[in-house]
Amino acid sequence: MRITQIDVHSLVEPTNGSPRDWWSTTPLDVLYDPRVSHLDRRQPGAERAGVISNVVVQVHTDEGFTGVGNVGVGSPAAATVIEHHLAPLVLGRDPFDLESLWQTMYRHTLSIGRKGVAVEALSAIDIALWDILGKATGQPVYNLLGGRTRTAIRAYASQCYAREDLDALAAEARGYVEQGFTAIKMRFGYGPGDGRRGMARNRELVATVREAIGTDVELAAEAYMGWDEIYAIAMIRMVEDLGLAWVEEPVLPDRIDAYARIRRSVSTPISGGEHEFTLQGFHQLLQAGAVDIVQPDVNRMGGITEARKVWALAEAHGLRVVPHGNQAHNAHLIMASFSSPLIEIFPDDGVRPGYKLHHEFFDGEPRAKAGWVETSDRPGLGIELNHDAIERYRAAELTLRADASGALA
Ligand SMILES: [Mg+2]
Repeated sequence: MRITQIDVHSLVEPTNGSPRDWWSTTPLDVLYDPRVSHLDRRQPGAERAGVISNVVVQVHTDEGFTGVGNVGVGSPAAATVIEHHLAPLVLGRDPFDLESLWQTMYRHTLSIGRKGVAVEALSAIDIALWDILGKATGQPVYNLLGGRTRTAIRAYASQCYAREDLDALAAEARGYVEQGFTAIKMRFGYGPGDGRRGMARNRELVATVREAIGTDVELAAEAYMGWDEIYAIAMIRMVEDLGLAWVEEPVLPDRIDAYARIRRSVSTPISGGEHEFTLQGFHQLLQAGAVDIVQPDVNRMGGITEARKVWALAEAHGLRVVPHGNQAHNAHLIMASFSSPLIEIFPDDGVRPGYKLHHEFFDGEPRAKAGWVETSDRPGLGIELNHDAIERYRAAELTLRADASGALA
């Protein structure tokens, strides 16, 4: 079999720019700035405007099998990387040569890659190749990764952003329990720049959700890299009695030493890895004893070919793997592993209105029913391009073809 064509769809969902009443900590929250402090909601410019984008690829073969993948929380720059760097390496090759293709793409882009958009771009192609392999062999991808480990995957509802209105936050959290979820992840709203008042507000947010859902439902909380080490240790100690299942990404991903010190200083489990790349990056993270729960973003960190190795590495360290995101490739990897107890699901009815785009460009992505996800047993990943959504959100399109010799036409 030969790869004959790669379609690259750059998609953009413009934000409507209206002020919003929900938020999360971000990597910008370390410094105090009265214009962006979450304690001062009067400033209409406080929330960052912007667009949500993604890059979706469809890989075609001479035997009629096609596969799809996408770039994790994609930058449009990934399309350029695919056009100029990756497509010439992949066109004309056999999609079954996964390891060789991965190493070729990774090694050819080292000077612009290793971490970031180049690895994200190769991740999308790698995932599409696994989709092709599944279709060509007539097997769901999890059967190529180790087979079923259970009948369904337990899901956690990932929403509950910080809000001023704590009654609304409590009602939102209760709603997920009523839908059947037995685990929820919420967001902290304040960072070092918000001082002691912000710390008290963070505790109030967690206490509100804990009280709303009771003690039987697992509750995790996300800091999205919004803290530094001193703040993280003090803040996590302030909520230890509220029984968090984990605190996610307390500091910047490169602060591996800080992660390890935070983990040793608190009893709440620490999770991370959503912004880490490749087996090598995870090797450094795990060797440092930085996290209790490993959270690779598969279409960011290197695709399924590299994710398999990270899953094996985590197993050797005795750690759980709870990948970032709700896409089908995650469901297949989780289904084939004894180390992955949960899948992240972003409920459609959550407070966060964005990410419509991410929920629409593929049909067949995992959805939770009564808190559980059933994995598609269709060949491949079990998802298809939604052409209406591709039209609706289209920003640019590329068609990259191989000539008779296999070179970029
Ligand atoms: Mg996260």
